[in-house]
Amino acid sequence: MALPSDQPFASRAESQGAGASRILIVDDDSALRLSLPHILNSPGRTFEDCGNVSDAIALLSKSVFDLIILDYRLPDATGLTLLDWLASEKRDEAVIIISGEDAIDAAIGALRRGADDFVRKPYHAAQLQRAVQSALHKRALETTNRAMSARLRASERLHRYLVESSPDLIFTLDANARFSYVNPRIEALLGFNRQTLIGQPFLALVMTEDTERVQGLLQAQHHNPGSNFSIELRLRRADSTHANPSPVTVTLQGIPMINRSFGQGRYLGLYGVARDISERKRAEEIITFQAYHDQLTNLPNRVLFKDRLELAIAQAQRRGRALAVMFIDVDRFKLVNDSYGHAEGDALLRGIAARLSSTLRKGDTLARLGGDEFTVLLPDIDTAEDADFIARKILDALEEPFELNHGEFRATVSIGVSIFPRDGNTAEALTQHADIAMYRVKRSGKNAFRFFAPELDTEHRDRLSIENDLRVALDRDEFELHYQTQVSMSQRKVVGVEALLRWNHPENGQIGPDIFIPVAEEIGLIGDLSDWVLESACSQLGRWRRDGFKDLRMSLNLAPNDFDRKDIVRHVIDCINRHHLPPSQIELEITESMMMNDSSRVAMRVKQLRDAGVGVAIDDFGTGYSALAYLQKFPVSVLKIDRSFVSELNGKTINPIVSAIMGIAKGFDLKLIAEGVEFAEQANSLNALGCDVMQGYYFARPVGAVVATGLIAHPPRMPDNNNPSWLQ
Ligand code: C2E
Ligand code: MG
Ligand code: MG
Repeated sequence: MALPSDQPFASRAESQGAGASRILIVDDDSALRLSLPHILNSPGRTFEDCGNVSDAIALLSKSVFDLIILDYRLPDATGLTLLDWLASEKRDEAVIIISGEDAIDAAIGALRRGADDFVRKPYHAAQLQRAVQSALHKRALETTNRAMSARLRASERLHRYLVESSPDLIFTLDANARFSYVNPRIEALLGFNRQTLIGQPFLALVMTEDTERVQGLLQAQHHNPGSNFSIELRLRRADSTHANPSPVTVTLQGIPMINRSFGQGRYLGLYGVARDISERKRAEEIITFQAYHDQLTNLPNRVLFKDRLELAIAQAQRRGRALAVMFIDVDRFKLVNDSYGHAEGDALLRGIAARLSSTLRKGDTLARLGGDEFTVLLPDIDTAEDADFIARKILDALEEPFELNHGEFRATVSIGVSIFPRDGNTAEALTQHADIAMYRVKRSGKNAFRFFAPELDTEHRDRLSIENDLRVALDRDEFELHYQTQVSMSQRKVVGVEALLRWNHPENGQIGPDIFIPVAEEIGLIGDLSDWVLESACSQLGRWRRDGFKDLRMSLNLAPNDFDRKDIVRHVIDCINRHHLPPSQIELEITESMMMNDSSRVAMRVKQLRDAGVGVAIDDFGTGYSALAYLQKFPVSVLKIDRSFVSELNGKTINPIVSAIMGIAKGFDLKLIAEGVEFAEQANSLNALGCDVMQGYYFARPVGAVVATGLIAHPPRMPDNNNPSWLQ
């Protein structure tokens, strides 16, 4: 039987196997029980039957039916009894009561007890068919509804669960931007009780700084509901006495709720999802901080310093004011790092940073450029004297020693200062000029400050070009040794030569060692240069020895850094052996300052050289510290009296220092060489004082190997040679 198309549920319920209808016929008239299935037959319908209430209950207890066609009057009870049973068992079978009773009471009683329909006997088959059809349809509808609402309830439970347990803050606002719903996340995030928030304005939660912006946005939505939006804002916490009262930064996704059934659409409010991004914000802040600060000291770094300097320059320009830039470099910092380790070095840098900070005012910027270099920006000064004052303050602040794990350390700094606009009007120029001025302080004794001056710039440029040229000079074979003779008065002959290094610069001509040796030391080239000198001098001495000058001694100058080399002793001895020279004919000249630095290491190396038979001379004796104690510690063999004392000799008065040096040499059993002898009187005075070996322009200037060979063979001047006008 085709079902009317306006009964979709019935049709589905009846046509699907799962929705097939089971019908129970309860009637004591067995003929009727037999005929009804035929009358009511339809695809999917199955029938069972019984003749009294108790059998019906027995059947129903075992299985479920869709419909019961129930006779009112049954042998053991009325149909009402079964209806009562069904109600008590909360069964939802549809029931059609069939009865011969024409009393309306029976119908009412049955319908009250939950029967779905009442058909009075005698009935027309079509009447019963309709009643069955409609009861089954109704039941199918009910079943579907029940399933749907169960699904709805489940879905609602799921969505509620999702919203209520969301890690995001989810809320709805009414058209006046007051909370109509907020999920429990609000309690953990901001500490508000969510019930008390209902009806409260959303703006009450927004930090003052953001209120205006958010209010504008909400109003705009109200007047002209638009599309979804996303903003970042800060929400305040419920309790400002909270251990962490900082606001919570969130990104808010706003979705306007609009009722489209009213013309253009009526604004109902807002659906909002806010995500806590405070952690991300903090991480971003840390990253930004790290990008602009030095990790060791937390001071601004080079980038931030440049930024602030540029800003300060622009402001000073506008206001017609001055500013100062300081370049500060810690003196001998490498010593701390090398001797005590990096942890101590770091501790010292932090300590210095703190001391420097304490000397500055609020608006000043102290930055660490890296290593032991700091810069200071004094953004608002009247005159250069203000910077002068601060520089002095910094030097004073470092007077107190620092407490390191290894004990106290007195740190000093070299400071260069440049002034805007006098010394430059860009951040680069001012920093570079302060650096150049600092560099100058370094070279003239450290622990001081100095202002930039234009001539320093030229010196600096020259120095840079020396550096660059020096790096390639060895490869280009631009060095040459000159030799200055050392003459023995008593033997009236040349007993030795001092090798003195010359740089034949391709453009600038010959450059003296006083200019380039310190540069070579600073840029780390001195080791290679000393090796070259050692090799060339030894090979030249070998040649002279082969030429017959068997007793000739060769003096070489070593740089302080050479004594830092672990292999220096081995290296010197190897070279001497390679050229088959007697070690006693090589003399290494060291300076007094070298012995002051790391005296025990140098003393050990001097001793090893002396043990190997190599001579060691103290050059420029008397100019340095002249502490006699180190003569005991350092087993040197020769003292070279410095030129400055020799130049004071005039042949008439006795110089007390020179006589003292003579006494020292005698006392320690050291040989003596006087250097810088320019005049016959000086030679005579020295001779009279008991100094035998002399070196100086009076006898010969330093000259190349070929000329030197002639001078060694035929020394032009001896004390009795009375020709003082001779100079080479
Ligand atoms: P120094 O070792 O004290 O050398 C003596 C310097 O005095 C030489 O200068 C020499 O030319 C100069 N001199 C010699 N006699 C007289 C004189 O009668 N009057 C005057 N006014 N000067 C005289 P030079 O060659 O310019 O060397 C300067 C310094 O450079 C040397 O002083 C030495 O400390 C250093 N030096 C030279 N060659 C080398 C080298 O191969 N290696 C190292 N590390 N240093 C070197
Ligand atoms: Mg020398
Ligand atoms: Mg000297």
